[in-house]
Amino acid sequence: MKKDISIYIHIPFCIKKCTYCDFISFDNKNSLKEKYIDSLLKEISLYISALEQYNLKSVFFGGGTPTVINERSIDEILQNIYKAFKIDKEDISESGIEVSIEGNPGALTERKIKKYLASGVNRLSLGLQTINTDELQVMGRIHTAEEFYNSYNLARKNGFENINIDIIFGIPGQTVNTFKKTLNAVIEMNPEHISCYSLKLEEGTKLYKRVKTKEIQEISDEMDRKMYHLAVSELKKAGYIHYEISNFARTGFECRHNKVYWTGGEYLGLGAGAHSYMNGTRFNNKESIEEYINMLENSEKPVSNEEKLSIEEKMSEYMILGLRLIKGISISGFEETFHEDISAVYGKKIDLLLKKKLIKKDENSIVLTKKGLDLANQVFIEFI
Ligand code: SF4
Repeated sequence: MKKDISIYIHIPFCIKKCTYCDFISFDNKNSLKEKYIDSLLKEISLYISALEQYNLKSVFFGGGTPTVINERSIDEILQNIYKAFKIDKEDISESGIEVSIEGNPGALTERKIKKYLASGVNRLSLGLQTINTDELQVMGRIHTAEEFYNSYNLARKNGFENINIDIIFGIPGQTVNTFKKTLNAVIEMNPEHISCYSLKLEEGTKLYKRVKTKEIQEISDEMDRKMYHLAVSELKKAGYIHYEISNFARTGFECRHNKVYWTGGEYLGLGAGAHSYMNGTRFNNKESIEEYINMLENSEKPVSNEEKLSIEEKMSEYMILGLRLIKGISISGFEETFHEDISAVYGKKIDLLLKKKLIKKDENSIVLTKKGLDLANQVFIEFI
């Protein structure tokens, strides 16, 4: 029987670099766009025979800003993926395959939206981050709240029935009240999915420098947690299911692609810096766009690191990734996967975390407690 696999495609181009961003994304390499797309098509062709043993579960265009790429290129990439799996575009939604694209207002037009839908894209993920103008400026976002509404409404009007909105809390200058304004605005828009992350100050970013030079002030951990608790309670009140530490969805709209990562599924990452996990091996591509293109011009896979996971590493990932899900990890699932008693492997650590009230355990599952959700890293560290 064929296994499932998800495909991630990294598009490392943006109109302007946001102040908090340390992703592999560039606002000054537009001249490489065409070659990059040719390289992606070449990379797909190098995996055709490896993909024969799989069924396609989901496709995710992430970035960067995938919507800055010509919509015909997105279509061409998708057609090549469908061909690799011998499926028709018409069968995509019926067979439950989720095809997502991340987009930003400012890089999204009606023509693009229509073409994405015609190409089989059935989920749109839009980056709002905050509805407040001052906070949008601190983050260096290129759009206004109004432009966001316009993009969202355009996507709805043209037929997107599965939309995610990304928001961030913990922005310097943000207050519980301004964050509540963002939450209310998002709830009002009624997307099927909401991702709500705490801002991480990444070294080397503009925002990091502004905080370190005390030009602006980082918000306290206490405030950060207050905002998280507010998000959980408001989104639940609005009928969203809290299914992962930072993710909320209407029934039936949990992100299938991301769940593959959290449940130890297999995925192939294409594009500069993309990560993959296939047949028990983890590997990632060269981060430099130029090196990525050069290697593919020579028909070489642009892989920079490859590591076969040991059983211990697989167990560790099972625990760390699975505990991100609110339903936690399945004890019988662990034992079926590894043919080991979970108490024999992690008994002491589980007891310690139970004692600290960071996890809860019943007959067949282990989940993070409310305290554990706030201190998730302390839990994960135990399983590394
Ligand atoms: S749009 Fe996203 S990927 Fe691009 S710079 Fe901003 S945060 Fe980074």
